[in-house]
Amino acid sequence: MEAKEDKYTDIDVTKIYEYADLPDKISVRCDYCGSVKFKSSVGGGKFLRECTSCGMKKNI
Ligand SMILES: [Zn+2]
Repeated sequence: MEAKEDKYTDIDVTKIYEYADLPDKISVRCDYCGSVKFKSSVGGGKFLRECTSCGMKKNI
């Protein structure tokens, strides 16, 4: 069985997530630590958002 919450409690900050796979649990907040501070970079047609406190990365 797959619980929907699991992917948010099991976040690996060394991975780069895709927004399509892991939409923001709370809009514009880090899914892992809840921070609202991000640094972002654009590359390869993607917008990579990195949390400045825990380092979680997501392509959005
Ligand atoms: Zn974070």
